[in-house]
Amino acid sequence: MSAAGTSTRSGLAIRAIEAHPVWIGHRNQLLVKVTADDGTFGWGESGLSGRELAVAGAIEHYRELLLGDDPFRTAAIWQKLYRSQYFEGGRVLTAAMSAIDIALHDLKGKALGLPVHALLGGTVRESVPSLASTHAGGAAEMLEQAQAFVADGFDVVRLNRLDGGRGGDADTIFEPRAAMTITAEAMTQVRHGLGAGVTLGLDWHHRLSVAETISFCHRLQRGTLDFLEEPIRDEAPEAYEALRRSVDIPFAIGEEFASKWQALPFIERGIAEYMRLDVCNIGGFTEALKVAGWCEAHYVDLMPHNPLGPICTAASIHLGAVVPNFTWLEFNRSRFRPQPEAERALFPDAPALTGTGFAVNHRPGLGITVDEAQLGKERFRHWNPPMLRRRDGSHTNW
Ligand SMILES: [Mg+2]
Repeated sequence: MSAAGTSTRSGLAIRAIEAHPVWIGHRNQLLVKVTADDGTFGWGESGLSGRELAVAGAIEHYRELLLGDDPFRTAAIWQKLYRSQYFEGGRVLTAAMSAIDIALHDLKGKALGLPVHALLGGTVRESVPSLASTHAGGAAEMLEQAQAFVADGFDVVRLNRLDGGRGGDADTIFEPRAAMTITAEAMTQVRHGLGAGVTLGLDWHHRLSVAETISFCHRLQRGTLDFLEEPIRDEAPEAYEALRRSVDIPFAIGEEFASKWQALPFIERGIAEYMRLDVCNIGGFTEALKVAGWCEAHYVDLMPHNPLGPICTAASIHLGAVVPNFTWLEFNRSRFRPQPEAERALFPDAPALTGTGFAVNHRPGLGITVDEAQLGKERFRHWNPPMLRRRDGSHTNW
């Protein structure tokens, strides 16, 4: 019997689920806390940046379904949530499920005195490698940042496209042809400047069309890039297949995937060479492990997306500790993007790099503390990504 008198196999029952959208640095993070009737709790995070209130609404629906359930039954809870509605799936609902699934694993680990990686099969590595990302406004600055990362020991650098705006994000105007020209020149300069020994990737943030991507790649000498991240949006695997036939640079795709079914064509049809799944979007650990295993069968490696908060980083490190086909974890803090003060205060033991990787945390659960006294200080703020337009006034992708 649980403390509340509910009979569950673990002896625990879910007593509360709360969504906390908080403003950190330049964005919101949506944190989710799940508490059991004995007071044990776990934290999760949703990855659907920019639409946190929609996810918080989904959490409210799901809370009603889960109160009294056994928090240890993460696989059953995943199915219960996924199959609880006629209109199943989608990015909002799965982001909510992801946060709950991560929080449940944190709770379960704390209740059992085990780190999350032990619940997932145990470590295959003790340090999870990370890649470094540039955020430069021009080719010279990009090369400078990349050289600094290499001097720090990184041998994988992910470059962000140039579009003439500060930090690779124009305030309002994005013209693909102009961006392709300056980005191709920058890629050539950076490869020349760093030499052949560094693994180089480029993230286009899905801003191009099929034709533009092909033209862009034709401007690069073979061997300039080791991977190309999301040149186009991912709705149509057929469009990516068309690209695959014309471009021989490995693709890194998947940060927006919200289920194994979205990953399916990219794995099965040989489109993605790197799976960029985000544990806070794909459906938590429960779904991430299934996709990871499927990728392993196809010799596709994981390169997880991780642009938001420390809970996602902590969860991704546990995932990276147990998945054999793992390459590098994205990390959004660097010498050029220091951790904001509010984040340091809210997460006093947030994961930090040791050299170019993360030491695996062996504390119970995720092994991360949320200072709840700080939660009320940084309230949710309405925020939208930059609204990019073409010169003719039409909207285009950020
Ligand atoms: Mg990306």
